[in-house]
Amino acid sequence: MKAQKPRRRRKVMRQKNCRLCENKIFNIDFKDVELLRRFQTEGGKILPRRITGNCFKHQKLLAIAVKRARILALVL
Ligand SMILES: [Zn+2]
Repeated sequence: MKAQKPRRRRKVMRQKNCRLCENKIFNIDFKDVELLRRFQTEGGKILPRRITGNCFKHQKLLAIAVKRARILALVL
């Protein structure tokens, strides 16, 4: 008989609503490096929506802002 692996339930901090909506940020400035960094990993990747809890609209805006900031080498 094979011992069953105990299934680990990953505890995911679920943020229901988008932080940007809460703070009423509707235009994300690519010069706002601090804001952009909050939604990136240490390596400079953009965090996926399921982790940040951003809404579609903001995630899209954020991705654009991050990409612009990358061109100007403001973020990784
Ligand atoms: Zn939002």
